[in-house]
This record gives sequence, C-alpha cells and structure tokens, in this order.
Amino acid sequence: MALIVQKFGGTSVGNTDRIKNVAIRVAKYHAQGDKIIVVVSAMSGVTDNLIKLAKEIMPLPNEREMDMLLATGEQQTIALTAIALHALNIPAVSLTGAQAGIVTDVVHTKAKIHNITPKKIHELLDAGNVVIVAGFQGETKDGQITTLGRGGSDLTAIALAAALKADLCQIYTDVDGVYTADPRLVPSATKLAEISYDEMLELASLGAKVMQSRSVEFAKKFGMVFEVRSSLNENPGTIVKEETKSMEDVVIRGVALDKNQAKVTLVGVPDKPGVAAKIFKALGDATVNVDMIVQNISHGTGTPQTDISFTVEKADLLKAQKVIDGLKKEVGLRDVIIAEKIGKLSIVGVGMKSHTGVAGKLFETLAQAGVNIDMISTSEIKISVVIDLAKGEAATKAVHAAFIG
Ligand code: ASP
Ligand code: MG
Repeated sequence: MALIVQKFGGTSVGNTDRIKNVAIRVAKYHAQGDKIIVVVSAMSGVTDNLIKLAKEIMPLPNEREMDMLLATGEQQTIALTAIALHALNIPAVSLTGAQAGIVTDVVHTKAKIHNITPKKIHELLDAGNVVIVAGFQGETKDGQITTLGRGGSDLTAIALAAALKADLCQIYTDVDGVYTADPRLVPSATKLAEISYDEMLELASLGAKVMQSRSVEFAKKFGMVFEVRSSLNENPGTIVKEETKSMEDVVIRGVALDKNQAKVTLVGVPDKPGVAAKIFKALGDATVNVDMIVQNISHGTGTPQTDISFTVEKADLLKAQKVIDGLKKEVGLRDVIIAEKIGKLSIVGVGMKSHTGVAGKLFETLAQAGVNIDMISTSEIKISVVIDLAKGEAATKAVHAAFIG
C-alpha cells in the first residue's frame, strides 16, 4: 500500500468528461488499496478569466481581493472531482487549501508555504477516503486566503507529497513528460526519461512551462522525486530527481523559448553608486521578479549616464512601470522604453559543466539563422539570449537541430 499524491492540471480537469476520467484513474489506484491525495487546478481558462474580470474593473486590483477571487477556481474543481468519485462509489472528500492545513506567509498572489499541518488529511485517509485538495491556495496564520503564484497547484502537490512523505508524486498534465523542446514547436523533440532538478528548474523558469518553477525548487530542497506524465494516456512520463554523474554525458538537455518576458530599458541613468541599488530594491519591494539585467557603457560629461535594460515577466510589467515612474524624478532618469515583442531562448544541460565551446556554437547557430542577439546571460548549466519574438520559433528549431537533432 502506497501513499500517492496525484496532481491534475487545468487541462486535465478542463470539462466534466475529463474530470470523470480523472476519477476513473484515481479509482484504479484506490482499488489497489493505495492512499490517494488528489490536487487539482482550476479548469483551464478559469483563472485567466477571473483575472480578466477583475481587470475590467481596474488595472491593478487589490491583491488580497485577487486571492479571494482566484481561490474560487480551484474550489469548483475539488468539489466536482469529489462528486465524480462519488459517482463511482468511491468515498472522497474535498478540502480547500486552508482546510488541508496549508499555512502561508502574507504575500498575497505569490505566497510561500510556511508549513503544512496535515492532520485533517490523515484522518480522512485513515477513514478510507480519497482526499482532494485545492491547489494554488492556502491561508495565512490569521486566516486570510492566499494564492501561491500562477501554476501554484504544482507547488501544493509537491509540498503535500513532501509533508506527507508520499511514496509517489505524480504530476499529470497535457504533455507526456518533459521534452527536449516544446514538441508543438520542434517536431523532432523527444521525451526525456529523467532530468535533474536543476535542469528542470531552468527549463520551467525559462518558458518550457511544464511546471511552476517554485514547485521544482521546493522538490529539490526536500529531495522529493516526482514524475511528470500525461492524464490522457498510460505512458510513463519523466522522472525528476537529483543529478547523477551519467547525466553530464549529454551536453544539452533541452531548448526553451520564453515568450512571456518584456524588456524595460531605462535611458540616461546617472552612473553613480547606489542608483542601481535604489531601482532594483524598489522593484524587489514591489515583488517584481527581475530576470536578466544589462548595463551599458556610460557616456556623457559631468555625471556620466548609462542605460540599464532588464527583463520582467509580462504579468509584472505594469507593476514595474509604476515603480519606475515613481523613481523617475528621484533617480533622474531620462526615459523608459518598453519592448514586449521579445523572446528568451535558452539551452540547458548539466553537461555544460564539463563540455566547452557551447556558447560559441549557440551564437554561431543563431548567426546562421539570421537572428540578432539582444541580451545574454549564463549560469553553470544554462545560456539564455533575448531575441526578437518574431524569430523565436525559427531560432528554437535551429538551435535544437544543432545541439540535439
Ligand atoms: N489555477 C491556477 C493558475 O491558473 C493555478 C494552477 O493552475 O496551478 O495559475
Ligand atoms: Mg497549471
């Protein structure tokens, strides 16, 4: 008898037929005598639509109220999933994040899980129930509803699996596993049998969009092995786990294109100590996640001036603009230029640690494809470039062909 956490994403619970299929799958495991915790997302499109409704009223709605609103999406699917299990005569009880004992910090819309007290879950499991937990949500110590950032149901699943010391954690999604690239974009992409946390983390945060990156960080921290697999078939998926020596034999594990970034360029920033600190501290305080940063050579006489470019998620762009507008006078910058039509292309692989010439090959491949490089950043296992969005897909194909095939 195993304790299994199964997470089903928005597409997997996208309509009542799909929810019935989820129930059939869960029922099979239940019949084997396994203890099952099901974590579900909102039906696909529901969260986006709730955000849209709020923004029809005002562009930057209060974040506490956004959490109140968005948490309703998952509340629908937990109940529907429980009902679908009841229809199969399986005892099942749904729980909101709060009822499941998920306590978070107070950062609305991006809360971090503080601790989990799974007492209620254990009681329900011991009584023979399948327990269905709303993903993406928790509550603060004071009982305020919070959400865990977009895609946060993954985090709920991994955190519950770690807290409950689950034997298995399965993340069911609409793809078969983790591929060397998005197969819709690169037809020759292949499914990986396994991948390290760090590679997965880079791919997830770089637009491979298989999973929320915070959930993978969490899994790494707690050594929680999990499997990403499809809810539409029985194929084995991709196992995500600690890095092994043999993983380094492959130079590049995957290629990802992130279309969700925007570039902000601050023109005429006084080049003196403390200015960058002021700007990026203010962005940080406003919980804007800044990704790449490039500062140009300074120019001008008197106090020299420079230009600073950085990228943020498109979802954070309005907030970033507000912060920068607030600083404009104080810092004395001349102009702000926003570019939304950018793509961030990245290659990822732990093999980069022991292979040389990877960057050269990437740049050469892009040059041959006629793609101009706008920004570059590297880490031990990743190289990212910002390029023109219009060339993103062609560039991804070319880079995949050059490194993987
Ligand atoms: N429903 C939330 C979202 O769309 C959480 C999730 O799907 O994991 O971001
Ligand atoms: Mg999702």
